[in-house]
Amino acid sequence: MGGKGASVLANSNPILEISKLRIEFDTPRGVLQVVNAIDLTVREGETLGLVGESGCGKSVTSMSIMGLLPEAVATISGGSIRFRGKELTTLSDKEMRKVRGNEISIIFQEPMTSLNPVFTIAQQLVEPLRQHKRLSKRERRERIIEMLRKVGIPRAEQIVDEYPHQLSGGMRQRVMIALAMLGEPQLLIADEPTTALDVTIQAQILELMRAMKQENGMAVMLITHDLGVVAEMCDRVAVMYAGQVVEVAEVRDLFDRPKHPYTKGLLSSLP
Ligand code: ADP
Ligand code: MG
Repeated sequence: MGGKGASVLANSNPILEISKLRIEFDTPRGVLQVVNAIDLTVREGETLGLVGESGCGKSVTSMSIMGLLPEAVATISGGSIRFRGKELTTLSDKEMRKVRGNEISIIFQEPMTSLNPVFTIAQQLVEPLRQHKRLSKRERRERIIEMLRKVGIPRAEQIVDEYPHQLSGGMRQRVMIALAMLGEPQLLIADEPTTALDVTIQAQILELMRAMKQENGMAVMLITHDLGVVAEMCDRVAVMYAGQVVEVAEVRDLFDRPKHPYTKGLLSSLP
C-alpha cells in the first residue's frame, strides 16, 4: 500500500472528491457544526489516511460518503461528495444502496460492525453477490468460501454456516473484510478497522488489506488514530481537527515537515 509510488499516484485521477462539505447535528444543546467545509480527494489506487483526535468528525465524514448518516439528527448542509463524477449527496436511498457495497465498501471498528447476529455468515456474505444475477446458488457459496479462505479464515466451508457469535473478534473483522471485498469496490473506507483488535491480529489485518489492495488496485480511505499505521500503509494523509481538514500531505512530507500546530503536536507525542 504505502510509500513507494506516491508521486505517481499524485497524478492519477480522483475517484472521490469531497468539496466544502458541511454536516450538522441536531442536539439537545442546539445545532452542532460537526463537519465544517472540508475538502478531501482520494485518487485511483491510492491509500489516503485520515487522522485526528477522537470526536473531530472522521466517522461522520465516512458515514456521509456511504449515505449512512442518522437521518433523524444529521444533515448535510452544504458542499458535495462526488464519486467518479457522480454526486452522491442527492442520490435516492435505492441508488445509494447500489453504490454501497458494490462501488464503495466500508469496514467499521469492531463494536459497530454490521454483522447481524441472527444470520449465518453465508446469509450475510451473499448480499454483495446479488449484483451477479447469473451466478447459481452454488457458485455464490463457492465464491464466499473462496473469499473467506483468502482473508485467512480456517475451516471456511464450516464457518460459512456459523453465526457471528461463534467467531472471535479477529475472525469477525476478517469476515467484515470478506464482505467488503466481495462487492469488488473501487473504494474501500476502513474506519479504525483494527482499533478493537489486539496487536498481533492488527498486524495481520493490515497485511491482509495491503494484499487485497495490491490484487485489485482499489483506492482506500483509512481512518485511524495510529500514526504508525499511517506511516506503514498510506500514500497521503489528511489531518482533521474540530470538524476541519487542517493539513493534507504526502506521508513523508507530513512526518518531516508538519505545518499545522495540531499536526506538530500529534507528531511530538509519538514515542
Ligand atoms: P471521530 O473523529 O472520533 O470518528 P465522529 O465523527 O464520530 O468523531 O464524531 C464527531 C462529532 O460528531 C462528535 O464530537 C459528536 O459531537 C458529534 N456526533 C456524532 N454522532 C452524533 C450523534 N448521533 N448525535 C449528536 N452528535 C453526534
Ligand atoms: Mg470514529
